[in-house]
Amino acid sequence: MADCELCGAARPTLCPVKVNDPGVKAAYPTGTWRGINEECLQSCHEANQNRVPIKGKKCDLCGIKNAPLFQVKIQVPIFQEPFHREVSKALCESCFEACEDTIKRREAEKTEAHH
Ligand SMILES: [Zn+2]
Ligand SMILES: [Zn+2]
Repeated sequence: MADCELCGAARPTLCPVKVNDPGVKAAYPTGTWRGINEECLQSCHEANQNRVPIKGKKCDLCGIKNAPLFQVKIQVPIFQEPFHREVSKALCESCFEACEDTIKRREAEKTEAHH
């Protein structure tokens, strides 16, 4: 099991998103992988289509500072009714693009599996 980087939900498999983490850029110049679950990937996709600017210190996925950030509404699982609460996360544009790449890659894999 692995925990989603955005909502913290544990899943057997996560969707890998390649981000440019400025903190480890020297060690990983081409980017590092973050694991998020399918629900969060979908939330990022929707947030990318309808961009709402949000004030934040850094991107919640890659950690970049001083970049324009956009709101992503994430459903965080909790142990009481209604079993989730909505939390606003701040993501940068390059992470949105990374999410879109992951979605495209997953769709390509799905079509290939059909043939
Ligand atoms: Zn998640
Ligand atoms: Zn980011």
